[in-house]
Amino acid sequence: MKTTIDVRTLPAAWIGGEPVEGDGTAIDVIDPSTGETIAAVGRAARDTVERAVRRARDAFDDWADTTPVQRDDLLNALAARLLEQKDDLARLEARNTGKPLRVALGEIDSAADQLRFFGGAARVLEGKAAREYLPGRTSFVRRDPVGVIGQITPWNYPLVMAIWKIGPALAAGNTVVLKPSELTPLSTLRLAELAAGILPPGVLNVVAGDGPGTGNDLTTVPGVDMLCVTGSVATGQRVLRNAVPRIARTHLELGGKAPVVVFADADLDLLVDQMRVAAFWNSGQDCTAAARILVQDDVYDRVVDALAGMAATIRVGGPFAEGGSDMGPVISETHRQRVLGYLDRAVDAGARIVTGGNALPGPGWFVAPTVVTGVSADAEIVRSEVFGPVVTVERFGDEQQALTLANNSDYGLSASVWTSRLDRSMRMARKLRSGAVWLNDHLTVADEMPHGGYKMSGYGKDLSTYAIEDYTVVKHVMARIS
Ligand code: NAD
Repeated sequence: MKTTIDVRTLPAAWIGGEPVEGDGTAIDVIDPSTGETIAAVGRAARDTVERAVRRARDAFDDWADTTPVQRDDLLNALAARLLEQKDDLARLEARNTGKPLRVALGEIDSAADQLRFFGGAARVLEGKAAREYLPGRTSFVRRDPVGVIGQITPWNYPLVMAIWKIGPALAAGNTVVLKPSELTPLSTLRLAELAAGILPPGVLNVVAGDGPGTGNDLTTVPGVDMLCVTGSVATGQRVLRNAVPRIARTHLELGGKAPVVVFADADLDLLVDQMRVAAFWNSGQDCTAAARILVQDDVYDRVVDALAGMAATIRVGGPFAEGGSDMGPVISETHRQRVLGYLDRAVDAGARIVTGGNALPGPGWFVAPTVVTGVSADAEIVRSEVFGPVVTVERFGDEQQALTLANNSDYGLSASVWTSRLDRSMRMARKLRSGAVWLNDHLTVADEMPHGGYKMSGYGKDLSTYAIEDYTVVKHVMARIS
């Protein structure tokens, strides 16, 4: 069944709760499961970005003065509005990203829950207890909002990533200018429209456009106190450079290349079952996707066979496929060529494709679930983030070698360890250099727990109360009391 979406040119921005036209040019938005243009979105020029930032600045003092319970109420009202619109929002998201409709429906539930979490968390944010550290002086710590936050989101989970950004920022009393990916702006523009009837004008502003244009403008116009990006390492580096002249605060959620360390004593059926999701969820376009499977020698052949068998049963199809699908297309033809390019070069370097490895017939940009073996620890496909439905499998002998291989990465966002031994899993959890470690699990997210990386995966946390703290400035107040 096809969903109907109004194909029209959408505003380039929502500023102060009002739609704003762009610079006269528009960017086509494509359904990756069909290649059809489903909308055109105006492009916010630099003066529009400046206007959004000024509006966010104007709204800041009043928003920062709201009580936590007022912010909680408003974030909860926005969550309720998302749920009222769940079906439409999920269809919009599924159409724009190609993901199965049932997955998009689940993402709207997650987005609403995350807003509710951050609303409640606003009420428990606190500084340290007051104390007299010097005679006659009382000190205490406040956590104040940073100010106007510029936020930039990627295309893999457009609405959920927008909520991960705005939830903690707004809960802490900041105002926001958010730029979605030019590939997937639709649900974020709808979010701005829904929020316009709920949040005070200027608290949440959205500007649409491409990265080098609107994104770069958002990171260089005056008046933005903190720059946050979820995206690639290259984009994180550009944003960081733009933060330097103003010493703007930064918060970077960048790429990942998660190792999955499988010991011979693991429950291998559970592993393979979980890899069906962890490796191929969202077509592998997930910064925490199980990407590098490291398997102990004794069970290597068995695991490779089981993974290949499992991958071959994944149903690939569009969001509204008859009978459902497990996995959709990748986001664009350019991205599909990038994924296939990694595979071609890996094969040239001696890798073996055990299953998949090819584009699937269109329309749409589908790639077969792929398992690759025969790769060295320094191969491009092992070290680079492929961001597609591709896993590599390597072998190891003992625990020390597993750890060395797992940590041999520029990235450090997440990892998992599969073993029935508690002592081993605890040692590995301690030594793995990544922001999340799953034990006998992979990819599951709890909104109460922090998400963020080590190394080139960036710094700063999304989700959890740690995220709210990232959007505050610690202030010491000292009073003379005698
Ligand atoms: P991307 O870096 O190409 O784009 C991300 C966003 O940055 C987009 O909105 C884009 O328009 C913008 N952008 C691009 N160039 C810019 C510039 N010069 N200045 C300002 N903004 C610019 O990333 P993508 O392809 O959209 O997303 C995939 C990447 O995101 C992967 O590397 C993935 O690992 C990462 N990601 C990380 C997390 C995490 O939590 N760590 C979550 C999701 C995705």
